[in-house]
Amino acid sequence: MLDGKGRVIRNTRIVIEGSKIVAVDPRATPVDYDLGGLTVLPGWIDAHAHVTWSFGKDGKNAGAGLTTPEAAYSSAANAWVTLMAGFTTVQSVGSPTDIPLRDAIAKGLLPGPRILTAVEPLAGRGEQTGTPDEIRAFVRKQKQAGADVIKIFASQSIRQGGAMTLSQEQLNAACDEAKQQGLRSVVHAYKDAVRAATLAGCTQIEHGTMATNDDLKLMAEKGTYLDPQAGLVIENYLLNKEKYLGTPGYTEEGFAAMQKVLSLNHELVHRAANTPGLKIVFGTDAVAGAHGRNAEEFIDRVRDGGVDPMAAMISANSLGAEALGMSAQIGTIAPGLEADIIALDGDPLKDITAVRRVVFVMKGGIVHKNVAPRAAPVHRGIVH
Ligand SMILES: [Zn+2]
Repeated sequence: MLDGKGRVIRNTRIVIEGSKIVAVDPRATPVDYDLGGLTVLPGWIDAHAHVTWSFGKDGKNAGAGLTTPEAAYSSAANAWVTLMAGFTTVQSVGSPTDIPLRDAIAKGLLPGPRILTAVEPLAGRGEQTGTPDEIRAFVRKQKQAGADVIKIFASQSIRQGGAMTLSQEQLNAACDEAKQQGLRSVVHAYKDAVRAATLAGCTQIEHGTMATNDDLKLMAEKGTYLDPQAGLVIENYLLNKEKYLGTPGYTEEGFAAMQKVLSLNHELVHRAANTPGLKIVFGTDAVAGAHGRNAEEFIDRVRDGGVDPMAAMISANSLGAEALGMSAQIGTIAPGLEADIIALDGDPLKDITAVRRVVFVMKGGIVHKNVAPRAAPVHRGIVH
């Protein structure tokens, strides 16, 4: 058992009452679920997903905007395959369509990961974004709409060059207002925007491509979380190119830039992993086509980013929980925490591809998956 904080415990038993872990005790009886021979760890946390993004009826990327019955079922299916893949919590960053899905799962009406959502992100558009006061009002509006976190776009897409789209003053207003409202702020940032968001006191930086070593050092000093992506998001775009091409934001030029961005991202993850004290969390940026394959990002980080496998696991367990402000609820196998527990057929510390073989998933004390090792994944072949 990996406890989620870096400890390995062998031959133990986890005692659960209701939705909670009450003890970790090798002598506890009876044994209801024998996970002997497997690796047991806390359910993973994906800090950056787009759980409602799906392909539409025409097979093309429909983003999160559709509100048809088909789109609603696709969102529910995305949630289910994400849970089956071992992710018991995801942060969606975000869409208003997240809210009914989040709430249905929270009520126990649908199986899926616990969802946190940013509702409507603040899209940086230079001056047009608004004055600091207008930006503060936008942040308060998201809170009123039920946001768990505030998402801010401070850079263009990296496919368009990644230039800054908010001034320092605008970023300061956005992240400060989030803090005033008791919410965290996660900022889509490349290059110069990484430093600006760090200086603005934002909680977490998404992507971070082309951040300098000094930027990474500053983040470590200020305790700003970094969520870089080592591969899945771009691999998924390349795999589903025809489904994305021609939909808003996806051009041939953008696709041509992706290979280069992929190598920049590998390089960033390497540098980040070698920055002392930098808190790197696990986020996939899973969009249509990537749901249920979120764990591929672990393999990318370890294989292509030089991340230590134990650090990769912690990034999606206790450190991921800390970044969400949920250390007291999730991310660790310890008494008092939610019984979010998964088991892998294999040892990810020796072979990171074991993350593909999730054979047991419990969320809040309820078993959602319990299949024989080496059984075919129930959702194989589903590509949303
Ligand atoms: Zn994203």
